[in-house]
Amino acid sequence: MKISTQAVQLGIGRDCKTGSISVPICQNATFRHPALGETTGFDYSRSGNPTRQALEEGIAKLDNGSRGFAYSSGMAAITGIMTLFKQGDHLVVTEDIYGGTRRLFDRILTEYGLTFTYVDTTDISMIESALTESTKGVFIETLTNPLLKFADIPAISALCREKNLLLIADNTFLTPYLLRPIDLGADITIYSATKYLSGHNDTVAGLAVVKDPELAEKVYFHHNATGAVLGPQDSWLVIRGMKTLGVRIDRHQENAIKIARWLKTHPKIKKVFYPGLEDHPGHELMKKQSKGFCGMIAFEVQNHELIPQILKKTKLISFAESLGGVESLITFPEVQTHADIPLKLREKLGINNLLLRLSVGIEDAEDIIEDIASALQG
Ligand SMILES: *Cc1c(COP(=O)(O)O)cnc(C)c1O
Repeated sequence: MKISTQAVQLGIGRDCKTGSISVPICQNATFRHPALGETTGFDYSRSGNPTRQALEEGIAKLDNGSRGFAYSSGMAAITGIMTLFKQGDHLVVTEDIYGGTRRLFDRILTEYGLTFTYVDTTDISMIESALTESTKGVFIETLTNPLLKFADIPAISALCREKNLLLIADNTFLTPYLLRPIDLGADITIYSATKYLSGHNDTVAGLAVVKDPELAEKVYFHHNATGAVLGPQDSWLVIRGMKTLGVRIDRHQENAIKIARWLKTHPKIKKVFYPGLEDHPGHELMKKQSKGFCGMIAFEVQNHELIPQILKKTKLISFAESLGGVESLITFPEVQTHADIPLKLREKLGINNLLLRLSVGIEDAEDIIEDIASALQG
């Protein structure tokens, strides 16, 4: 069955008593036991909740993993997975990783004795040369933010197999609809479900999917023991959002390519970064490995004065952090999402004071273009 179909069907048939199509929200903390030694399969909602379970089983299926886990945010999912590592362990990480992930690694997990080396993970030789005796894992983003660099998962996973390293892939931008990291060799997939999966800018949530059943047992133990689980209402919202994943992403992409091509022709725009454009460095590889290019665009304007002007003057596009929702959002990465990346690295990566990031929504592309055009006019 195709992923878009599986997503629509999420949760159907879970309530045998009433036949409810929508998953019931089991807003509940504890479960009554029939008798000593007997259980309904649930005892306490941190350990397991029927609504959360519907989401966890759904994402595991979509991602072709053995088990899924729903966390209270994307960062909670990353933190939960990182508790698999021990003091002294070293990881190689994508250099232009999400700023919040970098903050967690550098300012918190280093205090617990983990070490990290940041490299351009689109270059396999850079990963290889960063490996040390203590390297235990590689943490990548499948498509990076904001410059949209695409990782070659089959190549990275071959290296990880050879060196016995855990490959963790943050697949927030692509979602299982466009790419399934586990099919390409990753061990664990992570999502900020706040973004494309829930898709409506109405909830904060995180998901992780584990390929190996034995490792999944361990992740379950950590999930329950540390406790950053997603509540039933939010689990339901993510399920509800995921049902339309396929049509939303189709529309996000259809709009994104039109807008990217239009931006390229505008005299006040200096550079456009969109992997769907033939001149993007990751275009060819992505065409082979991914079903699409998603709805994220970054672009540089000709001069910095245009930045405050655009952020103030766009009407349809909201100036707000986050991405992947039905509504178009624009951000200024240098001072917002990427403020926690060291300045030198930001300069190297090209995250400068001319760069804007657009999360293309599902509005009519012509309206989005008109909004940017009039904001550029001043
Ligand atoms: C937003 C984001 C996160 C963090 O997720 P939250 O749900 O905000 O905690 C992690 N990785 C990527 C790629 C993101 O875009």
